[in-house]
Amino acid sequence: MIQGSGRCHYHPERAGLGVCVECRRVICRECTTQFEGINRCASCLAQRLEALEGPGERREWSAANVALALLGMALVWGGILLVARVVAS
Ligand SMILES: [Zn+2]
Ligand SMILES: [Zn+2]
Repeated sequence: MIQGSGRCHYHPERAGLGVCVECRRVICRECTTQFEGINRCASCLAQRLEALEGPGERREWSAANVALALLGMALVWGGILLVARVVAS
């Protein structure tokens, strides 16, 4: 039997419409997300999407990474310009 009083787990003032297949919580229409044809609450969908992306696959660009990338690009372009100038002269 569905636990709870038929109210959305996240919105006690709203009537529950479905049950999340992951956490079995009652969720309202707004909390229901259809992914792969399966009802999930928003937080379980986020977890699911995270799992799909794979562990450690997510690239987070910190300011240091961006600065390093820009520096590397500048060095490469500097080298190219230098070579071009040497070749042209
Ligand atoms: Zn859930
Ligand atoms: Zn809700």
